[in-house]
Amino acid sequence: MVKTIRLGDPGGERIPLDLDMFPRTAVARSLKEVLVPESWDFARKRAYQSAGYACQHCGKTMSDGAPVYATAVWQFAEECVDGYFVQKLVGVIAVCSECFALKRMWPGLEEAVPRLAEVWEVSCEEAYQRVMEEERLSEERSLKLWALDLSWLEDWGIPSAVKDPCTRVIRDGAVMGEA
Ligand SMILES: [Zn+2]
Repeated sequence: MVKTIRLGDPGGERIPLDLDMFPRTAVARSLKEVLVPESWDFARKRAYQSAGYACQHCGKTMSDGAPVYATAVWQFAEECVDGYFVQKLVGVIAVCSECFALKRMWPGLEEAVPRLAEVWEVSCEEAYQRVMEEERLSEERSLKLWALDLSWLEDWGIPSAVKDPCTRVIRDGAVMGEA
């Protein structure tokens, strides 16, 4: 289970690299797409600042020539609200372009597995097994319907207004925006 990520003092928390495998039924794959631009800007700037402008996975900084982006960390929880499972935002973190691509398996299985093995400090076989397990989980999750829990933003004083009123978001214990 993914733990909630703090937005703390600069130079903050390093987070083990995990894969971003989304169920096909996920509400969104990107927080940027969900939030109004002002909210996203607020969230991403807080994340860079909190991370000291360094990748929270590998530690590379902009001065190492590594462009650093902000990305959301989600948890696909077993809990149910109004018949929807909860796609819970648990953090916004700063990551370099290389780590981001790896999280999303963009280099493809053959190239990603040896790199993941290195990052996770496990054998290629073990890394491959972990990727397969994540794939199995996201297949399983694709059979469920999801609603967003964005309360993490409010916990850190970040406005959580969504662009599209039809986005399924849990507010005050109920699912809003049900189309
Ligand atoms: Zn990195």
